[in-house]
Amino acid sequence: MKQSLRLGHVAGIPVGAHWSTLMIVLLIGGVLATTVLPQAVRDQPPARYWMIAAAASIMFLGSLLGHELAHAIVARRRGVPVKSITLWLLGGVTEFAGETKTPKDEFQVSVAGPLVSLLLSGVFYLAVVFLNGPALIVAAVRWLALMNAVLAVFNMLPGAPLDGGRVLHAALWRMHGDRVRADRAAAKAGQVLGMALIGLGGMELILLAWTGGLWMMLIGWFLASAARSEGLVRAAHEGLKGRRVRDVMTTSPDVAPAWQDIDDFIAIVALRSRQTVFPVVDFGGHSAGVLSLDALTAIPPAQRHDRRVATVARPLPPGHLLSPDDDATRILEPSPVVGELMAVVAEAGHVVGMVTTADLTRTLQQAVLRTTSLHQDAERTDDTQQDHPGQPLHDPGA
Ligand SMILES: [Zn+2]
Repeated sequence: MKQSLRLGHVAGIPVGAHWSTLMIVLLIGGVLATTVLPQAVRDQPPARYWMIAAAASIMFLGSLLGHELAHAIVARRRGVPVKSITLWLLGGVTEFAGETKTPKDEFQVSVAGPLVSLLLSGVFYLAVVFLNGPALIVAAVRWLALMNAVLAVFNMLPGAPLDGGRVLHAALWRMHGDRVRADRAAAKAGQVLGMALIGLGGMELILLAWTGGLWMMLIGWFLASAARSEGLVRAAHEGLKGRRVRDVMTTSPDVAPAWQDIDDFIAIVALRSRQTVFPVVDFGGHSAGVLSLDALTAIPPAQRHDRRVATVARPLPPGHLLSPDDDATRILEPSPVVGELMAVVAEAGHVVGMVTTADLTRTLQQAVLRTTSLHQDAERTDDTQQDHPGQPLHDPGA
C-alpha cells in the first residue's frame, strides 16, 4: 500500500498513512460528534463535541497503530524483517519482507495485534471506572474501550487475511505439517467469511436500514477479494517453485523494431501476429520497451506513416527484464504490467522471449495437471518444449 503521508519512524519502522485514512477520521469524528457524544451528554456547545470527537478519532488511529506495531515488533523478533506500517480506510497494514518460518512464530505474530487491542480496551475501560473526568471525555474514553474490544474480536474472525485467519493457518500448518494445504484452507475461509459479512451487511441494510450494513458489506467485499488474490498468489508461487523463466516464457516472440515506421510494423507484424504485446528491440536486439496493440490502435491513421515504433513504445517497468535462468517466481514480483506482458526475457543482452499472463496461466495449470497425473515420467520429457502462438515475423522486407 502506498503511503501518501509519512508519519515518521516508530521502533525503526517507517509508519505512514494512505489518503483514505482521512475518510475514517472524518467518518468516526462525524459519528462521534453528531451521535455518540450528544447521546451520552446532552446540550453541549457543538464545538465541544467536535473537539472531543477529533481527539478521540486521533486516539483511535493511535490504537490501530499500536495493534500493527505489536505485529511488527513480534515479527522482527522472530526474524521476519518489517518493511512498513500503513494506516488506511479499513485499519492498518503491516508489510513484511519475508515469512514466518514455523507455525509457532506465525501464531505469535498474529495474536500480538489483537492482544494489544484487548489490552488497550482494558486500559481505557479502567480509565472510565477509576478516573473522575468531565462526562464528555469519559464518554469518549468509553467509546475507545468499546472500539478496541471490537477491533480485537473482529480481527480474530477465522479467515485470511484477518489475524484470526493467520491463527487458523498456523493451527492447520502445525496439525498437518503442510503449509500449502493450510494456505488454501485459510484463503478459502477468508472468502467464505467475506461473503458472509456481505450477506449480513445486506440484511442489516434491508431490514434495519442501518448504514452500518453498508460498512460491513464493504469490509466483507475487501476480505473476500483479498483472500481470493492471496490464495491465487500463493498457488502461483507453489506452481512456479523450482522452475526457471525459460520453462514459462514464449520463446522468440514477434518483436517490434524501435526504428520501424508504424505503418510498416502494422502491415508486417501486427496484422499477422497472434500477440497483443511486443517487446521493442533496438538495432542490436536489446530490449527497448514494450508496444501494445492498444497503443497502436490509439494512433490516428493519418499519423501512422510518419511515426516510428519508438515514439509509441512504453518503457519496460523496472524489474521486468529477466534472464532465462532466473527463478520463475520472479515473474510474480509485484509491479505494473503493460497489457498482458509480465516480463521480457533477454540473454546476453538480446531479447529471446517474453512472459505473458497466458504463459503464466498455462504453466500453473500444467503444474496442477503434473501433480495429479498418473503418467508423470512420460510427460516430463516435454517439459521444456514451448509452443508459442504464431510464427516469428522478423522479415523486414515482406
Ligand atoms: Zn492485526
